[in-house]
Amino acid sequence: MFEKVLVANRGEIAVRIIRACKELNIRTVAVYSEADANSMHVQMADEAICIGKSPSNESYLRIDRIISAAEITDVDAIHPGYGFLSENAHFADVCESCNIRFIGPSSRAMNALEDKAVSRALAKKAGVPTAPGSEGNVENEQDALTAAKRIGYPVMIKAIAGGGGRGMRVAHNDISLIKGYHTARSEAEKSFGNSGVYIEKFIENPHHIEFQILGDTRGNIIHLGERDCSIQRRNQKVVEETPSPLIENKFKDLRKKMGRAAVKIAEVANYTNAGTVEFIVDEQGNFYFLEVNKRIQVEHPITEEVTGIDLVKQQIMIAMGEPLRIAEKDIIFRGHAIECRINAEDPFDEFRPCPGRIEMYYAPGGRGVRIDSHAYAGYTIPPHYDSMIGKLVTYGKDRRDAMDKMTRALSEYMITGVKTTIPFEQAILQDPNFRRGVYSTTFIDHLLGGARRELIEPAA
Ligand code: ADP
Ligand code: ADP
Ligand code: MG
Repeated sequence: MFEKVLVANRGEIAVRIIRACKELNIRTVAVYSEADANSMHVQMADEAICIGKSPSNESYLRIDRIISAAEITDVDAIHPGYGFLSENAHFADVCESCNIRFIGPSSRAMNALEDKAVSRALAKKAGVPTAPGSEGNVENEQDALTAAKRIGYPVMIKAIAGGGGRGMRVAHNDISLIKGYHTARSEAEKSFGNSGVYIEKFIENPHHIEFQILGDTRGNIIHLGERDCSIQRRNQKVVEETPSPLIENKFKDLRKKMGRAAVKIAEVANYTNAGTVEFIVDEQGNFYFLEVNKRIQVEHPITEEVTGIDLVKQQIMIAMGEPLRIAEKDIIFRGHAIECRINAEDPFDEFRPCPGRIEMYYAPGGRGVRIDSHAYAGYTIPPHYDSMIGKLVTYGKDRRDAMDKMTRALSEYMITGVKTTIPFEQAILQDPNFRRGVYSTTFIDHLLGGARRELIEPAA
C-alpha cells in the first residue's frame, strides 16, 4: 500500500485526489504556486510545499521542483490530475527513474498515443473507424489543398498536439482552408509548442460520446460506459451526462459497439490505468474515433455516480499493481447523472473570465447532489489558471429526475463577488430540446444565437 502520495495539481481535482487518499488512509503532500498559498488543496493535505511563482511554467509545470518536493517528503507516488503534466510521458519516466510511482498510464502507452495523428493511426490498426483525413502532419499549403480535395469540404484543421478545444479551424473552401491552415499552425505553436496540424472531415451536427476505460498492469481492460459531452461551447465541454440520450433513444446498439472499439484501442496501446476514448457520432449513427485522454477526466464523477465505482481510488490501486477486481459484465449502471462545469466567467459578456474574491459561498446539498470544488467564501480565484471553480453533479433515478435535481441545485448555488456561468447553465437546463434529450455539439450556438437568447440575458 502507498503510504504517502504527492498531488501535482491544484484546484478541484487536487481536492478530489486528496479525498480519495484520505479514504484509503494514504497521507498526502500538496504542491502549490505563490498564487495558491490559500487554496483548499493546501489546507486539506497533510503537508504542503511551495514550488514557485504563479505562472504554471514556473510552478505546476516544473518537473524538477515537483520531483524535489517528492524526494524531500519521501512519497511513494505522484498523482498528476488533469492538464499540466498529466499526459507528459517524460514526466512519467522521470518519476519511475526516481523510484516514485506515477499514477497514470505507462510512458510506453502514452507514447503509443502521443498525439492525435499517432492515435488515429493506432485506431486504424485496431480496426476502429476514424473520420476521413490526412495521414499525419500536413507540411505545406499544397498538401493541405490536396488533402481537402480528397476528403471533401467542409474539413477541420486540427493541431496534432491540441487539447482543451484549442487549435481547431473549420474550412468550407480553398480560401478559408489556406487561411485556417496558417492560423491553426501558429495557434498550435503558441499553445502547445508544436505547430503540426492535420486535416479531417468536418462532421456536421455531431455528438461527442466518450467511453471511460480502466486497465490494470496485468493486461485486463474494461470500459465503464459512455458519457455524452455534446453540450459544448467553442469545442469545450459545459454539461455532460450519462447515459447518452442519443444512445438511449436512437442508437441502442452503439453502446456495445463503441465500448468494444474503445477497449480494442486500449488493448492495442497496452493501456494501463484510467483513460477516456473520445468519439464523434454523426446523425446516421456512424461513429469516428477522436482521441484518447490519457488521464482522469474532468467529467469522471458522472460515471462514478451511475456505476458506484470510485475512479480515483481505482487509479491508485492500479498504480500499486493491484489487479482489477471488477469485471465489465458485473458493472451495474443505475439511474442518470449530469454534471455542470461552473466557471468564473460572465455569460452576459462573452464569457469573459472573472477572477477575484468570492464574497459569499453557499453550495447546494440534499439528495442526489454532489459538489467537487475548492471554492469557499473569502477565497480569491487567481487569474493565472483555468476558470473552473467547481463541478455540480446530480444523480437521479432517471434523466428527468437528474434534470429536476440539477435545476433545483443550480437555483440554490449562491456565489457572490465574482460572475459565474450558473445562469447560463440554468438556461440550458430549461431548454425544451435539452429536456427532450435532442441536441448535438451545435446546441449552444443555437441557444446563444437564436430566439432563446432572452432566457439568459437580463430584461432591458
Ligand atoms: P476533458 O477532456 O476532461 O473535458 P479538457 O479537455 O477540458 O478535459 O481538459 C482538462 C484540462 O486539461 C483543462 O484545464 C485543459 O485546459 C487542460 N488540457 C487538456 N489538454 C491539454 C493540452 N494538450 N495542453 C495543455 N492543457 C491541456
Ligand atoms: P480536444 O483535444 O481539444 O479535446 P478533440 O479532437 O477531442 O479535441 O475535439 C474536441 C471537440 O471538437 C469535439 O468534441 C467536437 O465537438 C469538435 N470536433 C473535433 N473534431 C471534429 C470533426 N472532425 N468534426 C466536427 N467536430 C469536431
Ligand atoms: Mg477531446
